[in-house]
Amino acid sequence: MRRSLVMGNWKMNGSLAANQVLLEALLAKWQGVHKAEVAVAPVSLHLAQVGQLLSGSNIQLAAQDASAHASGAFTGEVAAAMLSELDCRYVIVGHSERRQYHAESSELVAKKAKAVLAEGMVPVVCVGETLSERDAGQTLAVISEQLSPVIALFGASLAQIVVAYEPVWAIGTGKTATPEQAQAVHAFIRDQLGAAGEQVRILYGGSVKPANAEALFAKTDIDGALVGGAALKADDFYAICRAA
Ligand code: PGA
Repeated sequence: MRRSLVMGNWKMNGSLAANQVLLEALLAKWQGVHKAEVAVAPVSLHLAQVGQLLSGSNIQLAAQDASAHASGAFTGEVAAAMLSELDCRYVIVGHSERRQYHAESSELVAKKAKAVLAEGMVPVVCVGETLSERDAGQTLAVISEQLSPVIALFGASLAQIVVAYEPVWAIGTGKTATPEQAQAVHAFIRDQLGAAGEQVRILYGGSVKPANAEALFAKTDIDGALVGGAALKADDFYAICRAA
């Protein structure tokens, strides 16, 4: 049995004051969410504060990115070991915004995922096609290309990753993939993962909100969600966590 996982990706949002308000509102309602595992990913600068606000709760800490390098002359980067020191449990790698705005290749994403695993954390590997790729019928080929370096690099430890399918056209646009569209890609991803597939949680991301969460989670191969915009609203995020 795969335990469902809901992760809030705060992206480059928040402030010390706003994080506190959001988490206090969330924790005030928290009773009852035990079925799904839940994590939030603030910017790395806020991890220590958010970790402290979450201490004693069952909400886990996650980071939005990690360097593929262990240490050294990499200005602006954060090493996986540094995230682990702050008690991060999960680290998102290969988010489409990193692939797009920072030109991260699938090979680099795989190396980042490996660095995260080496520090005892769980990499959440994001994959997803753009609208033009979908329209050109290339969705599965794109996903396969994005996954293959991870599959090659991980070997027997592949079962320890989480995958997030996030169609780029659905991120922050209000356009969600239908549960059927998402399910089809999730089933394909599980198949690509081979023997590890049954154990790997595959999250859906892209305009997940309370109104569509339940129908998505009802699909066999959708094991939870990576939530952007709705994770910044305590009521909405709570409702999504309850639905998982
Ligand atoms: P969204 O973002 O929920 O705002 O569409 C999801 C994501 O990018 O992880």
